[in-house]
Amino acid sequence: MVIGLGRFGGAVAHTLERMGHEVLGADTDAQIVQEFAPSLTKVVEADCTETATLERLGVADFEAAVVAIGTDIEASVLTVLALSDLGLTNIWAKATNEKHARILERTGAHHVVFPEQRMGERVAHILNERLLDFISFGDEFAIARLAAPEIIVGLPLVTSECRKKFNVTVVGVKREGEDFIHAVPDTIIFPNDELVVSGRINDIEAFSAIQ
Ligand code: ADP
Repeated sequence: MVIGLGRFGGAVAHTLERMGHEVLGADTDAQIVQEFAPSLTKVVEADCTETATLERLGVADFEAAVVAIGTDIEASVLTVLALSDLGLTNIWAKATNEKHARILERTGAHHVVFPEQRMGERVAHILNERLLDFISFGDEFAIARLAAPEIIVGLPLVTSECRKKFNVTVVGVKREGEDFIHAVPDTIIFPNDELVVSGRINDIEAFSAIQ
């Protein structure tokens, strides 16, 4: 179940549906409900802050609920509380700030996500460094896609010793016009190759800055 079909909730609901899940979407806005009706298993116009409403929707039987109400913090917290009271064991909630996140955790959310902050961090890394994509895990570790630095072009990975010299692991390589392949020790890096590397954020930043 996805509660709140704004930009974030809408994307979650559509993606789950595309992945083959049955999705019940709920929103207080009749126009949004109408918009989503053709593309989700079921869409209802409902105020989900009420336990009785959620009970009527049979929420207790759902595998997971995503509370994607961001702007109205009171509604977001009350909805998580109601889901928790109904015994849901897989509640995801979107937070707009740290305080909101703390309240959501206390009221019973099992997973709290910060889509705006995460995307903001990602864009900052992609803008500032020569990264094409970037995903961090916690504060220290990340996976990034970047153009292969010239210093390792023409060499097999075993020779360029990226792990030893730069403290990053090359996980995959993408040649122009081809799909990504898993990197192995004798993969030779060509000019214009893109790499997927994993490692500590500082090391990836340093690696992306070398020529
Ligand atoms: P986003 O930034 O992802 O668009 P918003 O907070 O702007 O998130 O949108 C949240 C959605 O949640 C809106 O479509 C709004 O109508 C809906 N919503 C707000 N309160 C409730 C509620 N009590 N029950 C169900 N849906 C709600």
